[in-house]
Amino acid sequence: MPEFQTSPGMRDILPPESARWRRFVHVFADVAERAGYGQVISPMLEDLGVFQRIGDATDVVTKEMYDFVDKGGRHVALRPELTASVCRAFVQHRPATPWKVWYTGSQFRYEKPQRGRYRQFDQVGIEVLGADDPYLDVEVIALGWEFYRALGLQQVRLLVNSLGEPDDRARYVAALQAYFEANLDALSAESRTTLQKNALRVLDSKRPQDADVIAAAPMIAEFHSDEAAAHFAAVQAGLTALDIPFTVDAKLVRGLDYYRRTTFEFQGLTLDSAQNALGGGGRYDGLVESLGGPATHGVGFALGLDRTLLACDDEGVFAPPAAAVQVFVVDTTGGLEAVRITGELRAAGLAADRAFENRSMKSQMKAADRSGASVAVIVGTDELEAGTVVVRPLRTAFDPSAADDKQARGQQAIARNDLIDHLKKAL
Ligand code: AMP
Repeated sequence: MPEFQTSPGMRDILPPESARWRRFVHVFADVAERAGYGQVISPMLEDLGVFQRIGDATDVVTKEMYDFVDKGGRHVALRPELTASVCRAFVQHRPATPWKVWYTGSQFRYEKPQRGRYRQFDQVGIEVLGADDPYLDVEVIALGWEFYRALGLQQVRLLVNSLGEPDDRARYVAALQAYFEANLDALSAESRTTLQKNALRVLDSKRPQDADVIAAAPMIAEFHSDEAAAHFAAVQAGLTALDIPFTVDAKLVRGLDYYRRTTFEFQGLTLDSAQNALGGGGRYDGLVESLGGPATHGVGFALGLDRTLLACDDEGVFAPPAAAVQVFVVDTTGGLEAVRITGELRAAGLAADRAFENRSMKSQMKAADRSGASVAVIVGTDELEAGTVVVRPLRTAFDPSAADDKQARGQQAIARNDLIDHLKKAL
């Protein structure tokens, strides 16, 4: 085993999988930008305080942060998510509202690594700051839905809920607190600890021991004010108008302490239930203020790239892209002709690769096959002298009825000067 390996929960993403990652972000960017969202690129590292504003009842903040004191004595952390950074950027730059942004990048959480759960993982997401409209919630949810459709995923379930207005939520939390305290003995030790910080988060518990107590807990809908109920009804009407199927899940509270009104989650139905959240988000208030900005409404989501790709594998969609090159140059005259030909091909916009180290014809042809290219351009001494090249299709079936081996392969000799035109027509 080599001396150095990636740290637990961290991975190298190698080709061709890395090309799939890039395409994933590309598809997301396309969905977001067609809806008027611009990309925000923020640093991977911020003052620890930025992330502490997310709330102290979330494991992400209290247990999982990669934080350290830098050489200048600043207490900083690698970002565990991007909503806080986007809000910090909003406060710092004060862009016009509504500020509609999308993002992508790696997040860091010191979690127990397992399939679909890593210590460095990637997300794509959107946030809208400075607008309070249930149809904006609908737009945000619909963009997530549209993105999954663009990837080809079918087995995705949308769960929605409303946490009500801050007052509703406070009354609900008090009722939940009283309820869980009355049922303390039945709760897991972990949930009893969570209860001391935030009763809502107990609803997030996926521990079997807590299931019955949680199932019989008070429901948030009983506490919705008229305004909150109207907002939630409008969100549902908007989703229905777009034919987006959803399930109301009264227990969906999600991690962030700042969520208010709408919360939602996309579940991958092919994944194990402990790791089946492909992504989620909601409407939040107070985060911008707590970072020193004006009172500002926010709504957004983050979707996990890693888990979504696992779901794609399960459904057999959005496969890693096939071969990257179109043409492979084989040169048995020393390699300089291949320097010229690949240079010309690339300048003409064709994807081209070649063999190195002046290997044998056989070895170079093997490399050509492995490259996935659809044609090989072959130059030997005879061709070099005659000012020609041989173009050999690599993907056409061998024709046993042909007069000779060359014909059977569909191989052609082309004047060197006609090569680019010939390939542009042929490919
Ligand atoms: P959150 O920011 O916790 O709401 O997570 C949003 C999405 O990011 C989740 O639904 C997952 O798809 C993904 N995610 C969160 N934590 C991890 C992790 N440790 N490893 C992989 N994906 C993650």
